[in-house]
Amino acid sequence: MKLSRRTFLKLSAAGLVGAVVIERAHDTWSESSVRGKIVIIGGGAAGITMAAHLADRLRHDDITIIEPESMHRYQPGYTLIAAGIFQPSEIERPTAALMPTGVKWLKDRVVALEPDRNRVITAANGPVGYDFLVVAPGCQVDFNLVEGITAASLGSGGAHSIYDFVGAQRCGEAMRKLPAMKEGRLVFTDTYTKMKCGGAPKKIALLTEDLLRRNGVRERFVCTYFNNDTVLMKPKPFGDRLEAIYAARAIELRPLHRLASIDPVARKAVFHRLPKASSTPLPAGHTFEAVTMEYDFLHFVPPMAAPDFVRDSPLVPTEQRLAGGWVPVDKGTLVHARYQNVIALGDVAGIPASKTGAAIRMQAPVAAANLISLMEGREPGVIYNGYSACPIITEYGKLMMCEFGYDEKLLPTIPFLDPAIERGMWWTLKVHGLMPMYYHGMLKGRM
Ligand SMILES: Cc1cc2nc3c(=O)[nH]c(=O)nc-3n(C[C@H](O)[C@H](O)[C@H](O)COP(=O)(O)OP(=O)(O)OC[C@H]3O[C@@H](n4cnc5c(N)ncnc54)[C@H](O)[C@@H]3O)c2cc1C
Repeated sequence: MKLSRRTFLKLSAAGLVGAVVIERAHDTWSESSVRGKIVIIGGGAAGITMAAHLADRLRHDDITIIEPESMHRYQPGYTLIAAGIFQPSEIERPTAALMPTGVKWLKDRVVALEPDRNRVITAANGPVGYDFLVVAPGCQVDFNLVEGITAASLGSGGAHSIYDFVGAQRCGEAMRKLPAMKEGRLVFTDTYTKMKCGGAPKKIALLTEDLLRRNGVRERFVCTYFNNDTVLMKPKPFGDRLEAIYAARAIELRPLHRLASIDPVARKAVFHRLPKASSTPLPAGHTFEAVTMEYDFLHFVPPMAAPDFVRDSPLVPTEQRLAGGWVPVDKGTLVHARYQNVIALGDVAGIPASKTGAAIRMQAPVAAANLISLMEGREPGVIYNGYSACPIITEYGKLMMCEFGYDEKLLPTIPFLDPAIERGMWWTLKVHGLMPMYYHGMLKGRM
């Protein structure tokens, strides 16, 4: 690919950011001679990154990753597939090629957890014992909880979701057909549960609107965003800026609406209007007002939870299962509240951080250092500050790099730049820099 001078300069800036990022994440490094059998559930972003950090530090490592899929996908790329920037094949790598040297891959699926017996049960290989367990199987994406929809039916009847690899491709195809329409009602929404990359549905709304504007047909379309919360985004500076952008671009905001069902044949979506935000299913027999919207193009997010085998295990107290069943770990050390030989990180972790790959980049070195401390019989002492980053694409060519930690504290990588401003430099980083940084840096434990 030939780069313009402008792109080269932006990439150089992005490279500088990368260097700062690597410097920041590596201050927990130390080598250890301790021994112990480590099992990691999930060879996704969190599992592979964690394995790489552990393999790097342990002289006598005995690490097994249990992962059923042969192909790994860079999920932040789903948004750019829909945007028509990435080809689907660009974001994939064979799982085998990502396994850190010396780490064993058991190609299987965990079906149950028995932490009181220090073992997990797999579908094909039966029980697998461990001394230390890392839980990293990500989110379960529950398309079936939206009435009228299944993952297989995505795209039919104009109902789209980029929270699925094929769904992202169909969504992109549909977006690019919109400018040819005489008129249209475009409806966008998010979900009520904790979700991975809460920014993704906002990005799709902005990208679609921008596509129409660039094609000179914006005035033919009505855009509405149904939001489950009262505000579009937290922390406040990012939410305020985003709401100002929505207002300027006439994307109507409807707060406190939860998607209930979609009728793809009639192209109608039903929402419930709620008195306050809530992250649990609505009680049976509720009488909340139903709002029906006819649409031509709909983008929605399915509810998400911890995978069933996690939610229904002794790792998660019964009373926490209704609210997602995320693994209760200490939000600083990432060590399980009850089982001191269990650590969870990534999307499955029950911590008040945003569920992103960027968060995992900071969690993995912390989790690895603390796991090694536990193996050595010491207290886990390295603390994760809740860092996460959500690159909100505001239009083709610009994005706002939202970096923050626990308690909505802003944690910008470049402190002297106002983070609540959309910039071309961040777009360049997102399109050209972040995926190589993911595959060649983060997953290798180098950042
Ligand atoms: C549309 C979209 C846009 C996004 N945009 C961004 C972004 O811009 N920036 C950002 O930082 N993040 C973004 N993310 C979020 C990011 O991709 C996730 O936070 C990250 O992938 C989570 O990593 P994980 O390892 O916890 O889960 P995953 O990467 O999902 O990996 C979980 C792994 O566990 C395996 N697994 C599942 N069940 C089992 C089982 N029973 N036994 C064994 N293994 C199992 C799965 O096969 C999978 O490989 C986005 C995500 C999506 C979907």
